[in-house]
Amino acid sequence: MTSIKEDEKKEIPEIIHDPQTNSTYQRLRFFGKGGFAKCYEIQDIATNQIYAGKIVSKKLMVKSSQKEKMSQEISIHRSLQHKHVVGFHSFFEDSLNIYIVLELCKRRSMMELHKRRKAITEPETRFYMHQILLGVQYLHSRRIIHRDLKLGNLFLDDDLHVKIGDFGLAAKIEYEGERKRTLCGTPNYIAPEILTRDGHSFEVDIWSLGCIMYTLMVGRPPFETSTLRDTYKRIKQCEYREGISLALQALSGPWQEIGSRYAQAVVNNNTINQRYRIPSSLRKPAISMIGLQLQAKPSQRPSVDKLLQHEFFSSGIMPAALPLSCLTTAPRTD
Ligand code: ADP
Repeated sequence: MTSIKEDEKKEIPEIIHDPQTNSTYQRLRFFGKGGFAKCYEIQDIATNQIYAGKIVSKKLMVKSSQKEKMSQEISIHRSLQHKHVVGFHSFFEDSLNIYIVLELCKRRSMMELHKRRKAITEPETRFYMHQILLGVQYLHSRRIIHRDLKLGNLFLDDDLHVKIGDFGLAAKIEYEGERKRTLCGTPNYIAPEILTRDGHSFEVDIWSLGCIMYTLMVGRPPFETSTLRDTYKRIKQCEYREGISLALQALSGPWQEIGSRYAQAVVNNNTINQRYRIPSSLRKPAISMIGLQLQAKPSQRPSVDKLLQHEFFSSGIMPAALPLSCLTTAPRTD
């Protein structure tokens, strides 16, 4: 009798053949598992080129909505080509599976980086956010909304260059001013206008970018609570943690370092001076950029072009490259 694991493996052959291009791939090591897909490192036998093979069992594709989502993901992703988007090489199927051959991102995603490092430094955040924005700028210029930008969908290559991936929830804006009404799935950093079903567009990606930047710099996501219900309530009220939304009001007020981890901002609320503790890694330009992205009203959030010009990018060191050691330990600042 074979175990379930072995049965599963049998369904993903060791030698994978693409009948259209006549390419043959050898399945190498297992890389990761998502909602539907299993990801393996695969090698083109003729060229020795290594790719990521995203493999989805047809057994899991039973509902027509799932099939539709998969073909939407493929049709959007295959039309894209950019330095900061996971390269799409080819796709094909056999009787068991659907295979998507992608650029291999050996350093996994920013989720693993976040789990190991928690809050990262401001220069690192500048390095990553700049690349993510360039990728999203490209998507928006092609009228694509990603709709699920999150750390786990931001892949990293050997140079720690960011590659946006997983277009499973992406949508194309078909005409100027179109507002999407539906979204089948649960984006991680979901924008308030998706929750309230008010119609949504490119601005949902800007919201997610604000959540990403907050998470990178603070070490925790902005709206997380113990239940999804409370989290959604907070999102709708745009109530993010650590008093940072209130501290935004203090941007013009005095700041003071208190210890190595916190600074305090003083908000002069007419008569009452209130003090808010803010992680001192967050300086004013970063707080201001996060605040612009995490605005409840979509029309008030800046475009990607505007964000790229934000003073956050000119107010400190922008590393030309980061060493791989940054995946596990903070870079030296001296
Ligand atoms: P799903 O759409 O089913 O959630 P994902 O896109 O999240 O699948 O992929 C599943 C796993 O495969 C991820 O957790 C990640 O580890 C890995 N993966 C996906 N794409 C790549 C890639 N281009 N390079 C390296 N690993 C990848």
